[in-house]
Amino acid sequence: MTQQPRYLEDTYCFSIESEVVARGSDEHGEWIALKDNIFYPQGGGQPADIGWVNDIAVKVRRHASGLVALYPEQALEFVKNEILRAKVSPAERLRNSALHTAGHFLNFALYPYGWKGIAGHHFPGESRVEFSPIGPDALAVDALPLREIEEEMAARLREGAEVKAWREGETRITLIENTEPILCGGTHLANINQIADLTIKSAKFKKGTLRISYDAMYRD
Ligand SMILES: [Zn+2]
Repeated sequence: MTQQPRYLEDTYCFSIESEVVARGSDEHGEWIALKDNIFYPQGGGQPADIGWVNDIAVKVRRHASGLVALYPEQALEFVKNEILRAKVSPAERLRNSALHTAGHFLNFALYPYGWKGIAGHHFPGESRVEFSPIGPDALAVDALPLREIEEEMAARLREGAEVKAWREGETRITLIENTEPILCGGTHLANINQIADLTIKSAKFKKGTLRISYDAMYRD
């Protein structure tokens, strides 16, 4: 039986009931994998979800088999075919999704200044996007009008734009309306108007790479 990656279909699905499709143990301990999986395993610059199964806290990891495995922090008793209750902590999921979606949005905000995003790290407190110059006309880091870019971004976030995701074969594609498609397996907000307080904390240029550190929140 295969595992359904529900977290890719719906960022806002915080709980589900499901049966176990696989179990085992490895160097991190005993694990189970649920058929309907709502948990995001760390990857793509986004931290793993915080969550519970039958109210027991679990650590979430991508297992070597490719399954998203859950490692209960206490013994989790269940019988074959039993339906378990899975829960993701909404606050962290939404903050991580806001930071992740903001990271993509930032990619495009720097485009008019001659920079394109090449990598991102979207952990709370240490979020950043790295850019390469598109050509020789990329504006030097000291010349970037960071406060203006921030204000421009805030206006566009207030206006809103839908964020969509779909699959083409094994590839997952994400698109913020009026930008370009991105290949990404992270969780995104449904609309950029749910991103609040997007601020640029610093911009540094080193070894051909522009690094912009930023912060963002989920708008309740
Ligand atoms: Zn993404």
